Amino acid sequence: MVQPVVIDQSAGGAFLRAIGAILPGVTLLTDPLDLEAYRRDETAYLEPPPPLAVALPTTTAEVAGLVRLAAEHRIPIVPRGAGSGLSGGATSVAGGLTISFMRMNRVLEIDRANLVVVTQPGILNAALKRAVAAEGLFYAPDPASTEICSIGGNLGTNAGGLCCLKYGVTRDAVVGLEVVTAAGEIVRLGGKTTKDVAGYGLIPLIVGSQGTLALITEATLRLRPTPPPKATLLAFFPSLIAAGDAVSALAAAGVEPCTLELLDRTTIRAVDDDHNLGLDRDAAAMLMIESDLPGAAATRALELAEAACLGAGAASTIVAADQAEADMLRQARRLAFNSMERLGVARMEDVGVPRGRVPELLAEIERIAAEQGLLIATFGHVGDGNLHPNIILDREDPDGEAKLGRATDALYRAAIALGGTVTAEHGIGVSRRDYLELQRGSRALAMMRAVKAALDPLGILNPGKVLPDA
Ligand SMILES: Cc1cc2nc3c(=O)[nH]c(=O)nc-3n(C[C@H](O)[C@H](O)[C@H](O)COP(=O)(O)OP(=O)(O)OC[C@H]3O[C@@H](n4cnc5c(N)ncnc54)[C@H](O)[C@@H]3O)c2cc1C
Repeated sequence: MVQPVVIDQSAGGAFLRAIGAILPGVTLLTDPLDLEAYRRDETAYLEPPPPLAVALPTTTAEVAGLVRLAAEHRIPIVPRGAGSGLSGGATSVAGGLTISFMRMNRVLEIDRANLVVVTQPGILNAALKRAVAAEGLFYAPDPASTEICSIGGNLGTNAGGLCCLKYGVTRDAVVGLEVVTAAGEIVRLGGKTTKDVAGYGLIPLIVGSQGTLALITEATLRLRPTPPPKATLLAFFPSLIAAGDAVSALAAAGVEPCTLELLDRTTIRAVDDDHNLGLDRDAAAMLMIESDLPGAAATRALELAEAACLGAGAASTIVAADQAEADMLRQARRLAFNSMERLGVARMEDVGVPRGRVPELLAEIERIAAEQGLLIATFGHVGDGNLHPNIILDREDPDGEAKLGRATDALYRAAIALGGTVTAEHGIGVSRRDYLELQRGSRALAMMRAVKAALDPLGILNPGKVLPDA
């Protein structure tokens, strides 16, 4: 059983003095203005208390030292990457120490022979991609937030993104981890061996655990040879349901794009307003389909995709003229959430369903929006059955928060009823804890609690995240 960590404010002073004495090299922030910058992640609606302090270690030994002292003083720890999370996973905890990994941001080794990179967790996803691209190699996991999220955060959330359809999620790219346990021990899991089934799979357990089971201080990640430049097709549909049908038609036609994204009408218009792309603003939905097959194979894949889309009812299709246009379209999709935020207070949700049930999920989203009198703009990684309905609140609506609560509740229940999930890539964090048992069931939740109790018996690792209160 996990001991609920008791926050004793007087313990904080002794703890900070111990860090100063035992780990004098660790930068420690305690000024309230500094702490404010580490309070939230991108879930702006959550209002966590400020942390006791923020530590910025530069080595694994320092992280282990901090955790040992935290265990001794019973101080909660919040691991933190770049703070771009959308479930409150890195939000601070009262009386807790936030450990920011952003100064542990070095690439330690690019191993061409074994096609792996060994990296510290604080490097940004885009920076890691650039570092390996300079060696002609490719790190696949590609969240839309690539420029503002860290590899540690990607591992913490098991981040997805735009090319999971072909290359898998973050977890699929991990072959080795170095972690610091809740007792402050340094443990290596896996290495450079790509096939390894010795014992229980601890790497897949820790990846996605949102800092509640261990702190990740180093990762060995799978690389690939750089794929050819992407060819891009846009297909515009008169209804959301027709676009959903096209997703199944693409699979049936044997097309395996690297990206298959959906944008609804509100998103198309908001993105077009921001980037002036000349999109069909009257379309109810658009699919963005990318292939990174070589030359003629990509052309063939896009021809098949075009035929599948037209067969499902697409009103028009267009192929990006060149690489620059394809890059511009992808970048606009990456920035879709920013475009949403100009429309009002936008809350990005993250439901997932089996791919074949996407049309039903889209119909449910339309129903919920109409029932609650809310604008919901939907985009997302539809090829994975993962949609991001963005609930947009009118800043002046006094009933806005209540409508939001009803809409998210209905959305989560709809996703579960369709055999899906309340979160496909952003995580349970704080914001979806109340729905974990509804989705997974009480027995699975009991197994999760047993794992937590075994790996963090004092309950100091990111308390209040992922698991609902017992
Ligand atoms: C505009 C926008 C677009 C986005 N698009 C995507 C997308 O396409 N796909 C996607 O999956 N997500 C997306 N996200 C969400 C977010 O970027 C990801 O969840 C990302 O993985 C978080 O990384 P971070 O470095 O910001 O982590 P943080 O937010 O700092 O932390 C995330 C979680 O990881 C834990 N953690 C961080 N570092 C460590 C560590 N070293 N050891 C153990 N645990 C750790 C934290 O405790 C927390 O629970 C998007 C966010 C925004 C704002």
